[in-house]
Amino acid sequence: MAKRGEAAEAAAVEFARAFETRLGPGRLRRRERLAPYVNWRVGGPAEWFFIARTPADLLAAVRVAREARLPVTVLGYGANVLVSDAGIPGLVILNRTEGVAISGAEIRAESGANLVALARRACEAGIAGFEFLIGIPGTLGGAIVGNAGTREEWIGERVLEVEAVDDRGEVVVWPASQLDFGYRRSRFQRTSDVVLAARLRGYRASRSDIEARMQQMLEARKHQPSGPSTGSVFKNPPGDYAGRLIEACGLKGYRLGGAQISEKHANFILNVGGATAREIRALIELAKAAVRDRFGILLEEEIRYLGTWDT
Ligand SMILES: Cc1cc2nc3c(=O)[nH]c(=O)nc-3n(C[C@H](O)[C@H](O)[C@H](O)COP(=O)(O)OP(=O)(O)OC[C@H]3O[C@@H](n4cnc5c(N)ncnc54)[C@H](O)[C@@H]3O)c2cc1C
Repeated sequence: MAKRGEAAEAAAVEFARAFETRLGPGRLRRRERLAPYVNWRVGGPAEWFFIARTPADLLAAVRVAREARLPVTVLGYGANVLVSDAGIPGLVILNRTEGVAISGAEIRAESGANLVALARRACEAGIAGFEFLIGIPGTLGGAIVGNAGTREEWIGERVLEVEAVDDRGEVVVWPASQLDFGYRRSRFQRTSDVVLAARLRGYRASRSDIEARMQQMLEARKHQPSGPSTGSVFKNPPGDYAGRLIEACGLKGYRLGGAQISEKHANFILNVGGATAREIRALIELAKAAVRDRFGILLEEEIRYLGTWDT
């Protein structure tokens, strides 16, 4: 047992050394608490933690971890994840690669680009088609993984191609036709690829029209609950709304510890103070069971679970 512990520590020292050699000293942190980096403000530590500021950082960090056979998890704004209280093993990379370049109606953006900033940049350049991003917190990478959007529009429709690093550390360029975009779905949910950048296409429109549409989108969100959440927890089942079903089960406002099903919108769960990941997950399971028992419908999570769970 003691031998195994020593071997693990030796491997950790070797990984930290390899990481520093490639990415510079003092940038890799050990056992960093993740709650401050995710929207729900819950979750335990990352075994290893690194903030990538450039695409070269991101690629090198992924490669060093792959060489050390450590799992890699990328976090954008953590606006669609529940990190377990036990935390995430391996390397967690906080993606802050934010470069955006515009040419005609095309945008090439790094995967850490902020979606709201992207919508505004497109507007300034007279490129329409990205207005719906104005109300969606997150990075481009997270949006591509989950094909983020509204009921009418989603990011996959705007993607021409995606540059990613695969599980062998090779850079691959995927055309949109191979990305299997569907309702809150993409191929990246089934692989360990890390999204590096994407080429997107909009269409030309007047700035004032684009601004007016963004304003409408923001107005439509005015009634959304505020507070630490991930937006909608569940996907809407065909022909219905997860929020309506949960509300019909009498769960609006239901509270478990510091986690509460929103009183305004039953598909939102809020951290109303001191919630744990376990409490949020228990509330998710409770809502799922209630909807299944009452309506025979199995709700599917839109959010993704990260880290080690003992369920
Ligand atoms: C108030 C509120 C409103 C919201 N409204 C909407 C909405 O209208 N529509 C909608 O679709 N979503 C909505 N969301 C959810 C969220 O904004 C989106 O899912 C967003 O795309 C999350 O981006 P992120 O960068 O924070 O991803 P994260 O939550 O950080 O990550 C999501 C998943 O993607 C993975 N990932 C992230 N970056 C990469 C990368 N570069 N390479 C590989 N994997 C990666 C993560 O490991 C994780 O599995 C809302 C959230 C909030 C809090």
